Amino acid sequence: MLTTAGTGSEVGRASVITNAKTHVKKIIFHPKVLPTVVICDPELTVGLPPAITAGTGLDAFAHCVEAFSSPHYHPMSQGIALEGMRLVKEYLPRAYSDGQDIEARAQMMSAAMMGATAFQKGLGAIHAMSHPIGAMFGTHHGTTNAVCMPAVLDFNAPAIAPRFDQAAAYLGIAGGFDGFCRFVQDLNDGLGIPRKLAELGATTEPLEALISGALDDPFCGGNPRPLTHTALRDLFLAVV
Ligand SMILES: [Zn+2]
Repeated sequence: MLTTAGTGSEVGRASVITNAKTHVKKIIFHPKVLPTVVICDPELTVGLPPAITAGTGLDAFAHCVEAFSSPHYHPMSQGIALEGMRLVKEYLPRAYSDGQDIEARAQMMSAAMMGATAFQKGLGAIHAMSHPIGAMFGTHHGTTNAVCMPAVLDFNAPAIAPRFDQAAAYLGIAGGFDGFCRFVQDLNDGLGIPRKLAELGATTEPLEALISGALDDPFCGGNPRPLTHTALRDLFLAVV
């Protein structure tokens, strides 16, 4: 048996289902989707290959970053998201380079659970874009998020820079928000994440369908800056 440390579905009340015919991802939210008992055993992630370790771990990171960016008021989620980012920063490179590192695996399992706990506060553009891309091209969810993150941070900068100045200080990253953005790109590069989604097989050919998929996504409205049609077109063109 094998599992990942990323989605945080063990503490989630959402289920994501892809319609293979229409290439649309639908998210079902219901309290009964939340498990009553969870056993987090990092031994079950030891056999994950490096690329899946990176992709799923960066999904946990995206959950923390988007929850931390969310304009909604939830101070407990804010704190959990920040500590979740720290765990990913410390332990994902270790789990990636040595899959047998059980301490890193355990901390990443915690980070995944914390990311999903934190995103009860909300998610934003990264997930709103990633869902239609994944549904149309079959790209890996967390890896897709990771490719989208630098452009989304840049787009959201006017709304989130002050809070990421604080996050950078906590994470030991020099240079405030700009330093955080450089850290994100370096983290991606170090984990073998491509700079463009084209390397994962995506194209901009269905651009209008990608945009409308993002506009219909439940997380579109939670982004710290409004995701207009024009903004999404620019974002998709930047990441694909
Ligand atoms: Zn996710």
